[in-house]
Amino acid sequence: MELVEAPIPTPGPGQAQVKIEAAGVNFIDVYFRIGLYKADLPVTLGQEAAGTVTAIGEGVTEVAVGDRVAYAMTRGSYAEYAVVPSWQLIKIPDHVDTRTAAAAMLQGMTAHYLTHSAFPLKAGDTTLVHAAAGGAGRLIVQMAKMLGARVFGTVSTEEKAALTKAAGCDEVIFYTRQDFVAEVKRLTNGRGVDVIYDSVGQATFPKGLDGLRPRGMMVLFGQSSGAAPPIDPLLLNQKGSLFLTRPTLAHYCANREDLLWRACDVLQWIASGKLEVRIDRTYPLSEAAQAHRDLEGRRTAGKILLIP
Ligand code: NDP
Repeated sequence: MELVEAPIPTPGPGQAQVKIEAAGVNFIDVYFRIGLYKADLPVTLGQEAAGTVTAIGEGVTEVAVGDRVAYAMTRGSYAEYAVVPSWQLIKIPDHVDTRTAAAAMLQGMTAHYLTHSAFPLKAGDTTLVHAAAGGAGRLIVQMAKMLGARVFGTVSTEEKAALTKAAGCDEVIFYTRQDFVAEVKRLTNGRGVDVIYDSVGQATFPKGLDGLRPRGMMVLFGQSSGAAPPIDPLLLNQKGSLFLTRPTLAHYCANREDLLWRACDVLQWIASGKLEVRIDRTYPLSEAAQAHRDLEGRRTAGKILLIP
């Protein structure tokens, strides 16, 4: 990654120009950088930011110049300015600061669709959340608790365990030194959990199928440890008529209505103190490479922001 000078992009019809105050770093940026997800080079990474609208194109109705806005899912936020489809922009409520909004969008809306739509949790459900101290993980834990679920979380260190407990997690499992399936079985009297939210992939996915109750659901939504291996569909039958989904945020925020539902819930919960977004570290934009090293090296616990 290199910091380069580029012309300020101008908005076309249906687009707005945003002066970026903070850009979120997400694992998806790593996947584009290493080529796991494809993009034409050179590419400006970054799928999330918040800042101020500085110009709008023809036909834009959702925002006006001067609005504080946040967004996710449009690439190019590791920059001072970005041009974003206006339907993707969310006005930031007065009582939420711009950096927090930047930190909340992608992982917040992800936690929202996972817990409210992919497998809608209800009171009394039991769930296992992998990498529970992570950016997405810690928000999933909090939303699962809001919905009344019993929540187990996996982490690698004592420090991350403490952060996960502080987020409301009922039981913390050290998957680096404990057999997480045996723990899940012990904690559920042999039954297994209703749903696993798995962002870790290779290291946890195959084994996790043994930790679900009959007809439970595996929500595999990431691959921080590497891609999950392919499985024979018959395995789902043998392990208890299980359900498997591999969802992505774009399909759960495909229109303005869904985007407003999820983003407004997340920002309102932050404003009212129901949801805490933990900004773990901030870096100048010029240190984006170090931010990636720290994220990939499991050194972070929460959100990483780049400040242009
Ligand atoms: P995290 O903050 O969760 O960081 C990754 C964490 O994964 C680490 O801190 C670490 O926690 C854990 N981990 C376990 N094994 C490894 C490993 N071998 N290498 C690195 N980390 C490991 O990142 P994000 O919240 O940004 O993203 C988590 C995952 O969720 C990513 O795969 C991302 O692509 C995915 N995602 C998917 C979305 C979707 O819609 N499908 C949307 C958003 C994110 P510990 O040290 O406790 O093990």
